[in-house]
Amino acid sequence: MADPFARPLQGHVHPSSVLSPRKAFARLASLVRPMVRYEPQDPWELDTSRLPRLLAAHRRKLRAFAESWLAPRALDIDVAPHAPPGKLHPASREVLRAAGRAGHLSDLLPRPLGSLDPRLLRFPLAFPQALKAEEFARVDGGLMLLLCATGLGVAPALLAGNLGALRRTVIPAFRACERGEPHLFAFAITEPAAGSDAEESHGASLLRPGVVAKACQGGFRLTGRKCYISGGDIAKHVVVFAALEGEGMESWTAFLVPAGAEGFRVPRTELKMGMRASGAAEIELDGVFVPERDVLGGLRAGWALNRAVLNVSRIPVAAMGVGFARAALEEATAFACRFRLGGKPLVDYQDVQLTLAQMMAETNAARALVWQAAASPQARQGEAAAAKFHTTDTARRVCELAMDLLGNHAVLHEGRVEKVFRDARLTQIFEGTNQINRLAVIEEEQERLLGLLAGR
Ligand SMILES: Cc1cc2nc3c(=O)[nH]c(=O)nc-3n(C[C@H](O)[C@H](O)[C@H](O)COP(=O)(O)OP(=O)(O)OC[C@H]3O[C@@H](n4cnc5c(N)ncnc54)[C@H](O)[C@@H]3O)c2cc1C
Repeated sequence: MADPFARPLQGHVHPSSVLSPRKAFARLASLVRPMVRYEPQDPWELDTSRLPRLLAAHRRKLRAFAESWLAPRALDIDVAPHAPPGKLHPASREVLRAAGRAGHLSDLLPRPLGSLDPRLLRFPLAFPQALKAEEFARVDGGLMLLLCATGLGVAPALLAGNLGALRRTVIPAFRACERGEPHLFAFAITEPAAGSDAEESHGASLLRPGVVAKACQGGFRLTGRKCYISGGDIAKHVVVFAALEGEGMESWTAFLVPAGAEGFRVPRTELKMGMRASGAAEIELDGVFVPERDVLGGLRAGWALNRAVLNVSRIPVAAMGVGFARAALEEATAFACRFRLGGKPLVDYQDVQLTLAQMMAETNAARALVWQAAASPQARQGEAAAAKFHTTDTARRVCELAMDLLGNHAVLHEGRVEKVFRDARLTQIFEGTNQINRLAVIEEEQERLLGLLAGR
């Protein structure tokens, strides 16, 4: 095989040239050299080395799991026929079981209650979740959502501090996951007439909620329809947000509903453009009984819980964007080095180099935004929403650059880029569209903006 270092990339001096900066640094005074001199490093290793040791070790485990379990199954699952609600592809079932045993379905609580290394509690919970979302999304968006959506379903019980629900339901479910018998949760706010209105206060103030809870002996009966609920067809518990009878969104309340309850039905899952390993389920509730003890956070606390969950969960969603951008960048880089055009590798063309540099910078900037939001001790609405819309928009741009670069090869299923593009596109829509996330940033700034207006 030819020596890859026999010649420089076109338009550059050879790395061994005296004009190559890293070589030139060797000639600086020995006192200064340690400050400026470094060896080339793999970008993933470099990022990982900058994390605190525990998070770095966690990131390594997540990548190893994604590569050994998600990567070999992703493309087949993506093109398998759309399955009826509740029917998982056999390969998805294998991944779920393995993820459960490896602790990736029960990592919202520390051991011995869940599977999170208790030493990771030193960091905000969003940080390990963001690392997981990036590593899994980089390998496969569909399986990533299949594995991560359950955390969204568990989050209201955690944030509500409902110890009874944790003891009776969440902790036994985590135990089952760790035995390789996945017990999943789902989070249901969206209704046929309420997408953005379930995520944004002004829309909510005008909405007539479609799912209603009627008080009855010992609890409530829920009636109505939810839609696009990730994993809603395979979850054993769904957190359903409902208004109290005769009241508006200010009465929204979170109910922990067992999927086996009488009157609970999943008539369909959507055949969607991406993330096809995860079902987006419609859920019908026909007088489903929920006992008082399974009201999370108390009556009329649903809106607060929903918004608090979104402020945390938008950070891992932002990290999905980073994972997709990274996947597109990796595919484009490999292609540019492999493919020859006009007698030379594509990467020798300087406009291709400019494109790769742009993709690298955008991906790194997106990750910096996510890690900054993830490191904040409080999940702040403006930071989380900005990270969510910025990184998912970045993912789409980076995917498009990859597609431009790959040409015909971009549209081939086995080339992966078209799939990454389809998967990434969904993240601009769920967890609030990116328009709604922009409005969330302004909502957070409202008092400051009103103050500025008044001072004019
Ligand atoms: C793959 C997938 C998974 C999902 N998973 C879940 C889940 O697990 N649980 C769940 O509850 N939901 C889930 N959803 C639903 C998702 O959160 C909603 O689809 C999303 O909030 C958008 O809602 P909508 O399509 O009804 O948009 P609409 O509210 O109908 O909005 C339509 C358009 O109007 C724009 N718009 C709305 N209001 C404003 C405004 N005030 N100013 C400017 N523009 C505005 C929107 O940005 C959008 O462009 C999922 C959706 C998808 C696609």
